[in-house]
Order: sequence, then structure tokens, then C-alpha cells
Amino acid sequence: MRVAHAYNETPTTLARLAWGKRAVWNRDTDLNLDPDMLEQLGTHLGLPPGSAAGTSLQAFLPRLGRLSVALVPGILTAGIYHRTRRRHGQQYCPECLAASPILLRHWRLAFVFSCPIHGSLLRDACPRCDSPLAIHRSVGNDVNHCHICQAPLAIQNTIPTAATLAAQQVLLDAWSTGSVCLGNFTVSFPEWLAGLRLLFSALQRPEFRNHVFPPLPPREERHSPLEFSRVSERAVLLPAAVWLTGKWPRRMLDHHRRSPLRAGTLIDSRRTQKPAWLVEAVQRNFPVQAQQRRTPIKVRVPSRLSTTLARRSLDLAPVITRRLDRLQTRH
Ligand SMILES: [Zn+2]
Ligand SMILES: [Zn+2]
Repeated sequence: MRVAHAYNETPTTLARLAWGKRAVWNRDTDLNLDPDMLEQLGTHLGLPPGSAAGTSLQAFLPRLGRLSVALVPGILTAGIYHRTRRRHGQQYCPECLAASPILLRHWRLAFVFSCPIHGSLLRDACPRCDSPLAIHRSVGNDVNHCHICQAPLAIQNTIPTAATLAAQQVLLDAWSTGSVCLGNFTVSFPEWLAGLRLLFSALQRPEFRNHVFPPLPPREERHSPLEFSRVSERAVLLPAAVWLTGKWPRRMLDHHRRSPLRAGTLIDSRRTQKPAWLVEAVQRNFPVQAQQRRTPIKVRVPSRLSTTLARRSLDLAPVITRRLDRLQTRH
């Protein structure tokens, strides 16, 4: 975007000049653009080797892991469909954007909620029409207005709560050191994040959410994983999850005393990623609700031959005659 602005070109034209017909906009460009393509652009611009490829989110992958092509834990999902973005995966600071067409890499992280320069809560949509941000589609390269409804993106800032800011600092510290201490465990950042994702999901359930101290505001959104959630939701639930893992597992046990928790509320047995630090504490402290075994009902499917024979043997004439007689007698 910045290169396109410098040359007074649209990003689409610049991409065509740099990469010809290679696909660019129908994917998450920050995450899935071929690093060789970025290097090629960097060479054109006279940048030192590695600096253009270093703008990609791929540099974050070794510190986060990858669950699938579409989902990297901790990176917000953009929900690309053709050239549109269906999910609110791109956060921005209106004041930073007003100063320069810059989107910081960290703003794609699900555990970042506020701008370090202006201290405001990041936004993830147009304030008027709620469209996800897509500044590469801005009309006339004007990145400060919504590409759909042209409303100004810079509006009055929202100041995050102290709890949100504190949790973000704890998360970023663990992210930079690569590990965190939880009770008797020292766990890597990806392992901690895996547990926080489970707690984040659990906190969307009323039976858990309504009894957390400090109390959480009621929610209206549908259940969604961390990477699909809006910033308003993440800025409340993730700090609560971080708070629960503090003094691990004492706070969780205090919660359990106030409102008994079931293991199934905290850990979904169908999930494949279950970190040891969370599983161990849950198995030791929380009762497992025995799932009632359902005996599968055996349905005998009749053979095609027997169905055909049964159909032939059916004589519907008397049934129809009886119904017609009944209708006639009514009238
Ligand atoms: Zn800012
Ligand atoms: Zn709009």
C-alpha cells in the first residue's frame, strides 16, 4: 500500500506491474503471499535482502504454530471470499491510519487490542456500516474512508480498561520471551495460547461466564473461536482468561468453589489441541460428567426387491373410495 501510494498507483496496478498475473488479492495477502514474490518486489525497490519478505505474517508462524491452512492460532482470520473480506480480522488505529497508510503486523494478532502510540482500543470495522477494513480497495487510495460507504474511519477513540491493557502487556511479554510460568509448569507461548483459546471458548458459556470474578458483561454474539471474534469481545474475554491462569490453578479452584465447574465445560473432548498444563489441572480438580452412552438404534433397511413387491401388492382403491365417501357425506 505504501509503495502504491508513493508511486501514485492503485495497489491493483502496482501488483500487476510487480507480479504480472499471479494471484494476490484472493487470499490473505499478509499471511499467504509467496515470500519469493515479496522478495521480487523488494529487489525492484532496492531493499536489502529479506526486508520485504520480513513484512509478512509468516515470520510469526514459528512462535504460534499452525492448525490448518486457514487457521493460525493467535492470528485473526480475514475470511477471504474472492476479493472480499468476510471477517473482521484486520484491526487498525484510526489515528495511526490518519497519519500514514500503515497497518502494523501486530494488529493481526488476536491478543493485541490497543495502539501502543495512542493508547486507544483498536477498531476492526467501519464505524458506520461495520464492513471489515480493506484499505487496498479504498476509493482513490483514500485509506481514511470506508471502501464501501465512504464514512470517515477516524472517530472518537475508545480507551481500553486497565484490565485489558494489563492483560495485553502480560501476553506480549510472554510472546516476546516465548514462555510463561504457570504454577509448577513453565509452558511455551503456543502451549499457553492453546489453553487460553479453550478458556476463551468456555467463557462464552453462561454457566462459566456468569460466575467469573471480576464479573463479565452479558454477551450477544454467537459462540466463536478467538481468531474469529471481534475486538470488543476479545478485549473482555481474553483478559478474563489470562486472569484465571494467574496463580494457576488457585483462581480456577476459587471459582469452582463458588460455582462448581465440570471438566466438559473447560475442555471439549473433541478438540485435538489440549495443553498438558490445563488438562492436568482439570483432570485433578474438576469432576467429569459421565456421558450417557447412547445405544445406536439399528434400522433395518428393506431390500429394493421387497419394497417393489410391497408396492405392487398395495391396493389403494378401497382407501380412496372410503375417503371420497366420507367427503360426500360431510357435504
Ligand atoms: Zn495509533
Ligand atoms: Zn462503511
